[in-house]
Amino acid sequence: MKNTPISKPKTLPKKGLSRQKIIKQLSKRLGKDFTYDSGRIVGSMCTNPNRFARFVYAKYLEKNLGDLGLFPNTAQIEKEAIQMLGSLLALPQAAGNIVSGGTEANILALWAARNSAIPEKDEIVLPETAHFCFDKAADLLRLKLIKIRLNGNFQVDCKEVKNAINQRTLAIVGIAGTTDLGVVDPIPELAEIALANNLHLHIDAAFGGFVLPFLKNNCRMPNFDFRLPGVSSITIDPHKMGLAPIPAGAILFRNAELLKKIQTNVGYLAGGESPQTMLGTKPGASAIAVWSVLKYMGTKGYKKVVRGCMALTQRFVEEIETIPGINLVTKPAINVIGIRSDLLNIFELANLLRRKGWAVALFPNHIRIVIMPHIRPIHITLMIRDLKSIMRKYLKKGR
Ligand code: PLP
Repeated sequence: MKNTPISKPKTLPKKGLSRQKIIKQLSKRLGKDFTYDSGRIVGSMCTNPNRFARFVYAKYLEKNLGDLGLFPNTAQIEKEAIQMLGSLLALPQAAGNIVSGGTEANILALWAARNSAIPEKDEIVLPETAHFCFDKAADLLRLKLIKIRLNGNFQVDCKEVKNAINQRTLAIVGIAGTTDLGVVDPIPELAEIALANNLHLHIDAAFGGFVLPFLKNNCRMPNFDFRLPGVSSITIDPHKMGLAPIPAGAILFRNAELLKKIQTNVGYLAGGESPQTMLGTKPGASAIAVWSVLKYMGTKGYKKVVRGCMALTQRFVEEIETIPGINLVTKPAINVIGIRSDLLNIFELANLLRRKGWAVALFPNHIRIVIMPHIRPIHITLMIRDLKSIMRKYLKKGR
């Protein structure tokens, strides 16, 4: 990577610049960032937000869900967005909030679980594949993470989960669509364990929540949502496969009482209470955009998007299987693909791909490709061509 040139710190201009000048500067500078439309962002879990949702977002920028008494109708829209997400996850009466993303949602789930339990309970049992936001949550909430090894299918090992439970266990976490490979943990088994031990089970479906419900019936996996009585809370991110503008995550609780455990009542606000999230002032536009994109897309719209991504995932997988020296880490359950190589160091392969303009995500032992809605067949063709060329050159050199 090139070193960033050292530049003088910027100061606030005395006289404001013209809009034209500012736009010119922004286009020049930001135009150099990656764009989703180019199809080069192949390792991210975000995508181009839906065009209508962008329009709605821009229209309601002044709405503040940090002061519910001022914006009661925005608050009602947020409530309905949560209900629609609840219906997707088999509990329309779920309680919750639209938040800034999966990180905040997961922190809130553990915060509520912690405040509902006795102080001696401070251990969270979770898969070693859990997103790094759980490390942040543990640090903030002074909880201890007990990271559990995976089974041969890259899922959390439920036997090990059982063995890890003790008097101090506060909650179990399961993942529906892991960050590294899109794997779905054995959630029904985790739910049984949680029920048997009277523990909070939080499901991180930040990515999978907008994929799993829309897969074709023959690809469906076991339940991961509120149909399982042991599931207490779920994270789902509209700003990933939900096509909502960034930032938009959501946290849903089965029991509304849990939300009260993280509520601060503030007398001076117009409504007398603040939302049960991390933020004070909170973007109402996010919640309104989520409500709008859910209404606009409907089940049918999301099915089409997810099935399109899955068809391209299948094509990518078939092509990968024909390239000598490269393998799949595992057969992808959803539109997240892990590729590895026995021949070429994975850092080197990622570097070569990045040099050819592909923004891949790099994990310790594999490269992650996420086939998001902005990826088109031509992008798959071009990336496969580059992968083949990299491996051909490497194999030739090695002989
Ligand atoms: N949970 C999972 C499974 C994720 O993959 C991610 C991000 O990729 C997160 C949580 C964090 O989400 P965010 O980046 O929106 O905070």
